Amino acid sequence: MLRDRLQRVLRDLRISVTDRCNFRCSYCMPHDDYEWSPREEILRYEEIARLAGIFVSLGVRRIHLTGGEPLLRHDLFRLVEMLALITELEDLSLTTNGTLLSVSRARELKRAGLKRVNVSLDSLRPERFRRMTRWGELGAVLSGIDAAREAGLQPIKLNMVVIRGVNDDEIVDLFEFARREGHQIRFIEYMDVGGAQEWSLERTVTRREILERLAAHVDFDREGRSRRDAPAREYPLADEGGRFGVVSSVSDPFCSGCSRGRLTADGRFVTCLFAHDGHDLRTPMREGRDDADLRQRIASTWSNRDDRYSEERLKAIASGRIGELPGQAKLRMIQLGG
Ligand code: SF4
Repeated sequence: MLRDRLQRVLRDLRISVTDRCNFRCSYCMPHDDYEWSPREEILRYEEIARLAGIFVSLGVRRIHLTGGEPLLRHDLFRLVEMLALITELEDLSLTTNGTLLSVSRARELKRAGLKRVNVSLDSLRPERFRRMTRWGELGAVLSGIDAAREAGLQPIKLNMVVIRGVNDDEIVDLFEFARREGHQIRFIEYMDVGGAQEWSLERTVTRREILERLAAHVDFDREGRSRRDAPAREYPLADEGGRFGVVSSVSDPFCSGCSRGRLTADGRFVTCLFAHDGHDLRTPMREGRDDADLRQRIASTWSNRDDRYSEERLKAIASGRIGELPGQAKLRMIQLGG
């Protein structure tokens, strides 16, 4: 098994298939105009599938497709078909904002081998949803969630990024919506990811606060993570099925079990969500290097990995040095997709 310097195994690969999006969420893309990666630099499906096969040969067992907004890529089902042929894979999932997920498209992805979806849902108030995404229509997202259920892309996880003074008064509403609809809600602490220029610690609602607000509303068991390397801590509801999750990168980092690698749409292997850059795999691949060469590049990049940004951030917070964290520009969330 491929281990990094902190003995963490590479098990999960998040693949960003595009750096473009049809939303402008304030916690990811607070501005209007962006320079997209030139199309010719974006990996073709065959290239992504080839690299995915190599990553799986090195121990990856779960692949998560993301963006930008992955459904902006044409015929994404073709890529899913290629990835679904990799028999060692235990999970193949997708994160989307839901607006381009029609029933026919959801069924097409399901037939191709996609197992489940995560859908971003930060508010249930149409006007607020519009303000937070700048270009998004809540109705289209709710239809996308229903389409996923209709197609059997389940369990459906709903991701809510909680921002103090913006949507934190809807924690219980989103919980109740998910409970009613039979989906799993995950509350995500607002993070200083690349591109989140409006982030501040004061605007982060911590896991402890989220649990306090929910505890006043519903009984739940305070259980740990489902898997040691799972980003979300899960909380089963006391007297009924169902559970919710909290992803607490700021107040309760999970770097010690982080098994996630990331592949950007332009072919860089990135070893942390808060990284400044990644290892270019596209150039050697297009220069005709063979799989053994590419495998060696991936293996040495991971073996030399010692990322634990969230732990360092917590130390900086504890010692009042939050402002002193390395200022070098991080890769943008839009390039990594979470
Ligand atoms: S901060 Fe980096 S190392 Fe820590 S859990 Fe997140 S991606 Fe993994």
